[in-house]
Order: sequence, then structure tokens, then C-alpha cells
Amino acid sequence: MTAKSAAAAARATVYGYPRQGPNRELKKAVEGYWKGRVTAESLRETAAGLRRENWQRLADAGVHEVPTGDFSFYDHVLDTSVMVGAVPERHRAAVAADELDGYFAMARGTQEVAPLEMTKWFDTNYHYLVPELGPDTTFTADSTKPVAELKEAVAAGHTARPVLVGPVTYLLLAKPAPGVAADFEPLTLLDRLLPVYAEVLADLRAAGAEWVQLDEPALVQDRTRAELNAAERAFRELGSVKDRPKLLVASYFDRLGEALPVLAKSPVEGLALDFTGSAAANLDDLAKAGGLPGKRLVAGVVDGRNVWINHLEKSLATLASLLGLAGSVDVAPSCSLLHVPLDAAAERDVDPQIARWLAFARQKTDEVVALARGLSHGTDAISGQLTANRAALEGRATSSLTRDPAVRARAAAVTEADARRAQPYEERAAAQRKRLGLPLLPTTTIGSFPQTTELRTARADLRRGRIDAKAYDERIAAEIREVLRFQEEAGIDVLVHGEPERNDMVQYFAEQLSGYVATQHGWVQSYGTRYVRPPILAGDISRPEPMTREWTTYAQAQTERPVKGMLTGPVTMLAWSFVRDDQPLGETARQVALALRDEVNDLEAAGTSVIQVDEPALRETLPLRAADRQEYLDWATESFRISTSGVRADTQIHTHMCYAEFGDIVSAIVALDADVISLEAARSHMQVADELAAAGYPNEVGPGVYDIHSPRVPDADEVASLLRKGLKSVPPERLWVNPDCGLKTRGWAEVRTSLQHLVEAARAVRAGLPNA
Ligand code: GLN
Ligand code: ZN
Repeated sequence: MTAKSAAAAARATVYGYPRQGPNRELKKAVEGYWKGRVTAESLRETAAGLRRENWQRLADAGVHEVPTGDFSFYDHVLDTSVMVGAVPERHRAAVAADELDGYFAMARGTQEVAPLEMTKWFDTNYHYLVPELGPDTTFTADSTKPVAELKEAVAAGHTARPVLVGPVTYLLLAKPAPGVAADFEPLTLLDRLLPVYAEVLADLRAAGAEWVQLDEPALVQDRTRAELNAAERAFRELGSVKDRPKLLVASYFDRLGEALPVLAKSPVEGLALDFTGSAAANLDDLAKAGGLPGKRLVAGVVDGRNVWINHLEKSLATLASLLGLAGSVDVAPSCSLLHVPLDAAAERDVDPQIARWLAFARQKTDEVVALARGLSHGTDAISGQLTANRAALEGRATSSLTRDPAVRARAAAVTEADARRAQPYEERAAAQRKRLGLPLLPTTTIGSFPQTTELRTARADLRRGRIDAKAYDERIAAEIREVLRFQEEAGIDVLVHGEPERNDMVQYFAEQLSGYVATQHGWVQSYGTRYVRPPILAGDISRPEPMTREWTTYAQAQTERPVKGMLTGPVTMLAWSFVRDDQPLGETARQVALALRDEVNDLEAAGTSVIQVDEPALRETLPLRAADRQEYLDWATESFRISTSGVRADTQIHTHMCYAEFGDIVSAIVALDADVISLEAARSHMQVADELAAAGYPNEVGPGVYDIHSPRVPDADEVASLLRKGLKSVPPERLWVNPDCGLKTRGWAEVRTSLQHLVEAARAVRAGLPNA
């Protein structure tokens, strides 16, 4: 090969790989270490083995440059905090005493100290530990981990590219440390942080890195001029570091927008851009910015966060159009493969027809390798893959699983009236008041009651065949009776059955809807050692039979008081699943909404007077760019209204969202037109009541008055004072009394007392009302 054609050859790479191992070996080792059953040495050996295995697998698949440093015992943002020496004051002693234990103390807390806060990594279901910074923060470089992992890979014979969280994203993801003014902006620490990155880069260069990747996903969000200027300065400074490796700045999850020209002009040697979904706009933007002459472009053309096979021909066309725009073009998934399960081939129980449409991390790796080969050597070089890919896509497009004519006809026939309650709120409220006869400030809970060990054991026993379905159902029925009896004794007004039959609020419904598939090994990391197996929404959605009617009517038969029917809303059903990518999300949401509408109507027909449709994910799947949000909120709220608008005026619709920062979606909350919404508020002291009132929210609201995220039992006076605060902005006819969220993670002892206090407080405040 001549030097010229060698330079032109496209290479395949990935930014990160699932950490857990084929059988979640990492989870077992880490948790074993926490329990004292696994030594630190053996934990480290397990980890090193998993890294070795991943690199080898990538190299065998044809990846030329493997990522290093993407591995983590817990979280890569926490690793970055360690790398830059940003260990919070309260964790320093633990870190000094033992590095590994100190690391886990930051992640999980100890008896004495609270952990770092955890939050969602952009709009994925991965959670990172939020760096805590302040004006006094000093950074010091600790390149031990990135250097050691690079050396491991090099020693194993690989060409490796260390991957680090970039300095701008690191600061933009941080928050003011406890005790620091809330308006402190961590980005003001950039000048202090850059020398530390420069030092780490130099160490990596010395250890043999030709390239280092700096991940800057925060730059795909709407950024201010000042933030863009900071990015410009960051890469200008890092670009001028002597003896540094070549820099590849990676962005993913969306388009770079106004940050693209900033990065394109910076003195870094390469950019990695996402070209999937709404990030496809990067293509035009790149051309407009004049391309990346002489630079390396890594093109993320394979969706790295969904489970579907790629459209190889379309990707090749995208890649071909990029060729003239950069010095060289390499091929990658759009983001780290951390967000997808390891291997679709392990799913032996998935319908073989559907299995052909699935691509997990291993399959995605093969796709980027094939694309790189096709780009370098022409389509003939990958004709076998292209033929198979065409056939699979064709099969998917025409399968009766993805196209159910009845479902499609119904979705197409939805009218505006189907997505609107027949009566305005005032009329409904009057009818509901008459039917339900509730007091002012009615008390209720969010749905779940403690998921006890007995319940979990019963579920495991059923799965392993140790008990039969009848015995299991009896166990559930007994739990429901118990939960109801407690609520009646405590004096709660609107009861719940406690959701003991549900393993998970999405999975429970996914298992009962046609169009969803479950995996056996499809684990993805949610945070730390917690892995989830999201269901796969593969085809057209329909509901073969009622899903919750039996338990709901069973519960209602036990009591005179109203029992709420409990459903998971369409947006959340999508958000916590891997969703088909062959049609717009709004269309899929509409199908789920229609299935839920039937469920809502069936519950109503069976006598249920209050039905709650939970949408805790509504805000978290908000698009990263403000410009894309309205379209999302339109289909999101419409699908909620489709599910809930088929009922009579006197059937009360509730919804629930578990967060207090809903500023971005206030108008969407209004647009849901639920009769009652419960929200998190205890920790923000009922501010939500103010904010909703200020936004003119016309319906009923239950700002949580009991913080279920903590084992602390609130006393009745405290709850009463929160309620009085709420009454300043919400009139008594429209204020509900409830906890922040479901009670499934709490213990019975705290729940019992807390709910008793909650009822006591409601009674006390009620008694003081003029018209009580
Ligand atoms: N109804 C659900 C429960 O109480 C709601 C959970 C949630 O908001 N995440 O558990
Ligand atoms: Zn909640």
C-alpha cells in the first residue's frame, strides 16, 4: 500500500464498550468486594480480565484503535473527578486511608458521609456522579488510571486511544459543592483545570498514546456565547501543549450546532461527530463550516444507544459525502456502546425473525468495521454484509410484527376529539366531587407500597417453579388486603392496591402488550452496579387483553373507599425501553396510547373511579436542544391525552411525575389536562405549588409533602406547615396531600408512621379552613 492510500483508508473504532462482561462479572466482583467476599486484588484482576477480553474482541472484529479508560468500577465521571483531584472535602479522609474504599465512599456514601449526587447522563438512562466544585477547588493531576489502562492495552499488543471526559463537559456537568453559593459557575474554574488536563495528556503521550479522545457531549446542548468561548479557549490552550498526543474531540447525542465551527477551527487534530437522528444536521453544518481540511473526522453513523441494525447503504452514502470534507474519515458508533447490551446473539429466546433486526455492542462493532471496509475498498468488499443487511431490513419493513393493519388503521383514524376530554375541567371536577365525596385536602399515595423481601422471594420462587401461579397470586392478594387495611386504618381517602404484582412499572406492561420483546441477557448499566434490562419495543403495539383490571377490581372489592387504578403512561413506556427506530417516536407513542386508552376505559367500566397514568419520564426525554422540544412535547402530551380522554366526566384522571424542576415543561403539564397531578416538592419546600400557580395551572395538584428519598419520618407539624405553604398558592379545593413518589423502596416501619403523620396533618389543616 502506498502512503497515500494508507492515509485514505477508513478505520473503524468505538468510544467505549459495555463494562460488565458477558455474565455481569463486574457487578458480581464489585458487590462481592463491598460485602467483603472478594479481595481488592481479585476485584482488580477481574476488571483487568474484562478489559483484556473487550479489547481482544474489538481487535478480532477488525477495530484498529481500541478505546482505553472507558472502563470504570462505578462511573467514568467519578473517575474524572479522581483524575483531576476534585475529591470533596468530606471524602478526603476515606480516600487517603484507602483509594478504592474512598472511591466507593464517594459513589455510595458511608454511615458518616453522604455520597456525591447522582444524575442522568444527558438523555440516556445512565447516571453519573456529579462533581462538586467551588471557588476554593484546586485541581491536581492524577493520571494513574488512564495511564495504567493504556499500558495494559499496549502490552496486550493493541493500538489504543485513551478516552477522557473533556474539561468543558466536566465543568458543565459539575455543581456547586455543599456550602458554596448556588449561583457559582464551575466553568469559571476552566483556567485552573486546563493545566491538569495538559499534564494528563503529556503523561498519556509519554505512555505511548498517539491519539487521546476528549469527550465533549455537553457541547451538543444549547450553549451561551460565554460557554462557547470557554470551549474555544480550552482547545486552543490544550492544542498548544508541548509533547502532547493528537487530540480527537468527540461529541454525541445530538448535533454540535454553533459549537461546530468553534471546534472545527481549534488546533485539535480530529473531531468525532454524531450523524444519527437529530444529529444528522452535523452533515450540512460541517459543509457550511468549510469541513475539517487536514483533520481526522470520526463519523458516528451507527446509532450507539439503540438496539437496531444499521441501514448500511444509507450509512455508506453519508460516509461517502463526508469524504471530501476532512483529511480522513473513520467510522464509529454515534456514542459509547456502554448504552447497549453486549451481544444480541446471546438472545436465544427472541423470535429469530426479530433477532435478525437486533444489533447490540458486538453487532454494532461488526457494522462499523464493515462500513469502514466498504468505504475504503468499495461496496464489493462487503457485498455479503450488504445483501444480508438489505434482506433483514426488508424483512423488518414488511413483517406482520412491525405492521399490524388494525393497529395502523386505528392510529390513523385518531381525531383531535379523541385526545381531548369531552368536558372542561370545572365540569369534571363538579361531577367527580359528587361521585367521590372527598374532603378538602384529600390524602392519597403515588401507587407502590414497600416491596418487601417476601414479595421479591415470592416472585423469584414463581420464576424458578418453586411455587405455582396460584400460590403466587394468593401471596399478592394477601399483600393487597394488608396494604388496603393499613390505608383504611390510617384514614387515607383515595387508596391504592400497592403494586405488589409489578416487578417494574414498564416491564409489567411490556410483558402484556403485543409488539414488545423481552431479553434474557440485555443488561445495560443504569448506575454503579445497577444494571437494567429494558424491554424492546419492536413492533406495532396492541393489547390482547386487560392488563390491570383483575387486581384493580380485586382491590376495589375489599373496600368502600375509592381505589386508584395505576398505569404507566405512553411516554414513560417509550423512555424506559429500546424503541423501534423505523418510524417517528410520536407514531409509536400513539399506538401505546391507544392500548392504554382501552385499559383506562376497561377500568372505568369495571367501576374504577380514579385512574392514575404515571409519566415520570416526561421531562427526562426532553430533547437536548430547545429547538426540538415543542415537537416532542406535542406528541408526548397528545399521547397522554389519547390514553386518558375516553372516560366520563366523573372519572378522575391523575398523573404523577417525580421531580420538582419542571420549569421547562410547565406548559406541557397544563396541556396534559389531568384532573390531578402529583409532583415531588418536599425537598424544594412546595415551590412547585407556587410555580404551577404562577403558570396558571388550572387543575388539582398534590405537591409531595413527604420526601420518600430519605428514610426520615416527617412529623405531622412539619407536613402541616408545608400544606399551609401550599395553600398560599393553591386553593383548598385543588390541593391534594401525598408523598413525593412511590413507596416501594422504603421500609414498612417508616412508611406507616409517615403516612399516619400525613393524614394527621391534613386533618389539622382542614380543620382550620374557613369552610371546613
Ligand atoms: N406508581 C409508581 C409507584 O408508585 C410511580 C413510580 C415513579 O414515579 N417512578 O411506584
Ligand atoms: Zn415518582
